[in-house]
Amino acid sequence: MKKLEQIYEGKAKKVYRTDDPALYLVEYKDDATAFDGQKKGTIVGKGAINNRMTNLLMVLLEQKGVPTHFVEERSDRETVVRKVDIIPLEVIVRNVSAGHFAQRYGVEEGIAFDEPTVEFSYKNDALGDPLLNAMHARALKLATGEEIDEIIRRALQVNGILQEFFLTVGIRLVDFKLEFGRADDGTILLADEISPDTCRLWDMETGEKLDKDRFRRDLGHVEEAYQEVMRRLATSKD
Ligand code: ADP
Ligand code: UDP
Repeated sequence: MKKLEQIYEGKAKKVYRTDDPALYLVEYKDDATAFDGQKKGTIVGKGAINNRMTNLLMVLLEQKGVPTHFVEERSDRETVVRKVDIIPLEVIVRNVSAGHFAQRYGVEEGIAFDEPTVEFSYKNDALGDPLLNAMHARALKLATGEEIDEIIRRALQVNGILQEFFLTVGIRLVDFKLEFGRADDGTILLADEISPDTCRLWDMETGEKLDKDRFRRDLGHVEEAYQEVMRRLATSKD
């Protein structure tokens, strides 16, 4: 498999074509952005951590029956994935109030829900990723009703698996964002990444934030938090 030309550069990753038309290569960067790209910075070593962590979790999810785009880790920052047609929905699962949920509904952070919630944002930078419901997504023809049902079912399945896994390393999975895509045969695959950039991860004992909120909120020790999550995940594999 040969890495060919770059076809896309996003905020956190670059995407390359390969000599296999069914496969892409993604390269994780150390660049960090927040608040619709208004805040920019670098988190040293983030690219390698997010690459490794995403792959470790994608393998776990595959083992538990979730179809994913993961194919093979190519280097510390590069991974081969199945090319999909990304469904432009940010699928956000929450177990505990935080971030926009707390702001939007005027509640404090840290309230554990009786059941997880799933919400969608329209993945559209120009519009600022607005919140939308399943009917809006269908009206905009972003996905069919069947695809949306499948996405919600998979998102909740992923939540159950990840919550249990993070618990074993002393981490509370507060919320996270997933992206799904259509493979050539129409199968819905979990795509993109699962990392401290896309999850809120709180230390179970101390409540310390071990995720991108350290960067968003200028809490300091950003690199150390990413390294700590990776250290715990690596230990759990042994
Ligand atoms: P953004 O586009 O939000 O700045 P990134 O920097 O993470 O995000 O860029 C990676 C891009 O690759 C995203 O737009 C994501 O939707 C897309 N992507 C992730 N996995 C796949 C895949 N398997 N096939 C095609 N595109 C993918
Ligand atoms: N999230 C993400 N990308 C986005 C928006 C949100 O990865 O474009 C993640 C975010 O890291 C958090 C969860 O989704 O783990 C819920 O985010 P929220 O809606 O609270 O928005 P935020 O406050 O993170 O902007």
